[in-house]
Formats: sequence, structure tokens, C-alpha cells
Amino acid sequence: MPHRAVIALGSNLGNRDFYLNMALCLIGWEVGKVVQRSSVIETPSWGFDSDPFLNQVVVVETELEPIVLLDVLQDIERRLGRTEKSSVVDGKPVYHARTIDLDILDYDRMRYHDDRLTLPHPHIAEREFVLVPLRELGISIP
Ligand code: AMP
Repeated sequence: MPHRAVIALGSNLGNRDFYLNMALCLIGWEVGKVVQRSSVIETPSWGFDSDPFLNQVVVVETELEPIVLLDVLQDIERRLGRTEKSSVVDGKPVYHARTIDLDILDYDRMRYHDDRLTLPHPHIAEREFVLVPLRELGISIP
């Protein structure tokens, strides 16, 4: 039985449409079958002063275990030219513009936490840019 992962895509640097489409292709090849995809929406950047994002949420059937899925998504981010990661300064997160950001929102409704991965993704409830696409797809994440 494949696992069901809900993945958020975001881009606010360069040719945003191109990066979203490339990420979706690579996810289809390297993660699994994309079975649902939301519309692409444009939202103001959240948590930092930067250009607006294009955001989309997709559901993928995958054989990859959660940490391997994170590895593959981070590799796709790197190959699509994402250079800087968010960091923490004085206890506060510092965000940067990014060609592509890929987050695992949910994986089989699993609860998991270690220093690299938290499931479901924290802060979903406060971020309209994921709530709107999730609502469109009829998905609620506990
Ligand atoms: P960001 O820079 O916002 O993409 O955050 C990336 C960092 O969040 C990475 O260091 C990941 O290891 C960590 N992370 C924790 N939980 C998740 C998750 N559910 N999906 C993606 N990244 C996660």
C-alpha cells in the first residue's frame, strides 16, 4: 500500500511558475503519483518582507518513508537553485526568498517529531497559503 503525503509548494524568486512546474514534474518522477493538485494561488510573503509567493498543495502516493521523502524533497529544492535555508537568530526564524520551498504537511496522518522533521507540519493552522489550497482539495489536517 502506498503512503499518502500532502506536500506544499511555494516559490517567490525568479520564474515562479517555472519552479512550481519543475518541482511538480520532479515530484511525479522521484516521489510518486500526484493524485490531487490544488489551484496555484498568489499570497503575500509570510514572516518576512519579500516578493509574493505562488503556492500550491498536492497529494502524492509514495513508497518513500518520511525521512527519505524529506531527503528527496530537499534534494529537489537544491537542484532547483534554492541556496539559503531559513535560520534562527536571537531565537527568531529568519526567512529568505526562495526559488522553491517544499514542505510535508501530512504523511498518513502520522505524528512524528525529530530534529529534522515534524509531522504534521507545525503552523499549518495559521498559514492561509496552505489552508486555502487544503480547503479546495477538501483536506483537513488534525
Ligand atoms: P524551510 O526553510 O522553511 O523550508 O524549513 C526547512 C527546515 O524545516 C528543514 O531543516 C527541515 O528539516 C525542517 N522541517 C521540519 N518539519 C518539516 C516538514 N514537515 N516538512 C519540511 N521540512 C520540515
